[in-house]
Amino acid sequence: MVKENREELEFRRVEVAARIVEPGEPGGRETSKPVEIRYDPVSGRSCRITFARAATEGEKTLPPPPPTAAERASCPFCRPQVERLTPTLSPQLSDQPRLKRGESLLFPNLFPYGRYSAVSVVDDNHFVEIGTADAAAYADCLLNCVDYLHRVMAADPEAVYLAITQNHLPAAGGSLVHPHLQVHADRIPANLPRFLETRANAYHAAAGSYLFSDYLAHEKQEQSRLIGASGEWHWLAAFAPEGFFELWAIRPGSCSLLELSDGEFSALADGITRVQKFYRSLGHNAYNLGMVACEKPDSRLELRLRMVVRSDYAEWTRNDITGFETMLGEMATFSAPEETAARARKFWPASGS
Ligand SMILES: [Zn+2]
Repeated sequence: MVKENREELEFRRVEVAARIVEPGEPGGRETSKPVEIRYDPVSGRSCRITFARAATEGEKTLPPPPPTAAERASCPFCRPQVERLTPTLSPQLSDQPRLKRGESLLFPNLFPYGRYSAVSVVDDNHFVEIGTADAAAYADCLLNCVDYLHRVMAADPEAVYLAITQNHLPAAGGSLVHPHLQVHADRIPANLPRFLETRANAYHAAAGSYLFSDYLAHEKQEQSRLIGASGEWHWLAAFAPEGFFELWAIRPGSCSLLELSDGEFSALADGITRVQKFYRSLGHNAYNLGMVACEKPDSRLELRLRMVVRSDYAEWTRNDITGFETMLGEMATFSAPEETAARARKFWPASGS
């Protein structure tokens, strides 16, 4: 077998400096403001770290709960009205109207994103302040998603592009504050899974090894962005983040969401709730989470879950997606991934890596 192809996994960074005269600086003396441009070894996409902005951020405190935190009665995901206000599964998929796992409840998305699109509500807790979620409840919620995906694939084996996502709080795109995941299956991949499938398969053909396993092997050697492990999931700060405080969990050697054991989802949920505690410690309350799978026997795309902080759900918050991201197509974040990893490590057991 050919050894991994290091050329394909270049952890490239370029440092540039902007020279400016600070406001009120006497004599027009210039200051150098460093900016680092990094290239993601997986996607090839660049991002930039604008360190100057971080210096103005200061210590943050968690925003207060939103007004809807107390509005159980009008929430369609709260019991008992969830049974009345949410759609039910096609009989092709289930003889029960909704899937239940522990306290988690899964039903079709009223506003579907694709051929198979469902919502998995974590439990009956309407508003859960970030960092206080129950890992066992998240494990049940993930297992509910997997149950749904098993049923979809049994009914439609061509719907191989699977994904689990989360928009925690409306600032991250969530329509309701009630914690829930979205689960998707489709015959037509979205942009990222389409790219990742091609990239991972081509990498394997060229290098004889797996893309995310090799990425992780590099990071284990490098150490600076490694955070810890939960079961077989290895957590690290993304080298070239496309979101604030972007963390990855890589599950080396597994290309199938449907073949993981229940224990693997408990371990994943444990890691997710640790990240939530980390985000809380930074004073942020909103985030996105996502994981994709290409459920084909010959897929070389290993599982990787991503989490990114989003703008806080609070009045008059500055949005994190600016003209730089929407118009130039490049994320500008403020802090070095190595610093993110160092701050996140204390939320994992010391022996975790
Ligand atoms: Zn609710």
